[in-house]
Amino acid sequence: MAFTIEFDDNRLIEEISDPYRRIHETQPLGMSFTDFLSLGENLRQSSHIYLRLADLDERIDHTSYTYVRMKEFVDLCIKDPSLYTMENFMFFLHLTGLSVPEHHLQYRFDPEKPVEDLVNPYLQISSFEAAVRGFAKSDKSKHAITSVYTCDGIEDVCMASLYHLLKLGLAIKVCGNCGKYFVPLRRSDALYCDRISPFNASKTCKEDGSQRAFEEKLKTDEAEKLRRQIYQAKQMRVRRNPHIPSYKENFERWKKDANQWKKDIKKGRRTSEEFIQWLEDNRK
Ligand SMILES: [Zn+2]
Repeated sequence: MAFTIEFDDNRLIEEISDPYRRIHETQPLGMSFTDFLSLGENLRQSSHIYLRLADLDERIDHTSYTYVRMKEFVDLCIKDPSLYTMENFMFFLHLTGLSVPEHHLQYRFDPEKPVEDLVNPYLQISSFEAAVRGFAKSDKSKHAITSVYTCDGIEDVCMASLYHLLKLGLAIKVCGNCGKYFVPLRRSDALYCDRISPFNASKTCKEDGSQRAFEEKLKTDEAEKLRRQIYQAKQMRVRRNPHIPSYKENFERWKKDANQWKKDIKKGRRTSEEFIQWLEDNRK
């Protein structure tokens, strides 16, 4: 049974509809696709809308060919945004044997306000020109042209989404707070998504992410200040006591460990907070 995904480029929303299953869900544009892509190993237990729409015989999990390739392509484009082009996407379709599902434009006009009426009636122009000019001026939340893709399954709805995002020049990014994929709809330089933060249920990633980054920066600065203080103290102790070799040994070992800590923090294996604790414990 087919379902549709409809994109409203003006209001930046998408609506997935399946009248047969009585499903009608509206979300920000690209949301269902980026949510789906973010599932990874959780895909199997998920109640994501694509899985509710899929026929029972369409089994998909995070190891399925399409899912793996799709994620690989998106990851590649995030790593190197110059690869995120319509042409490369077409080539991706060729490589994977996937295709963009059939689609058409849908015109939704406000019957109460014909677009022709929005133009000064005394202008000496044809009714055709009045209509074109009127539409250009019209309120696009009431007069919309949307794109409707008819999908037969999960692959279709994914390819429709990716194709439509590319058509609109909208990128896919990874949220700096929750690590899920998202589409920055309003600002292309957005670092965080609008989902609920996994670290604070009363905030979105956007609100929580910058706060957490700021706090992490303070902690990093604090750790660096403490590291330098201890470094100088240990160095001074070595210089003043050249006859005590254990001071030099202690300093050398400490320097090596402190460097390893900095590397581990950079890679996200340890936190600045833990580093501060270690520094405190190894002052002597
Ligand atoms: Zn997020």
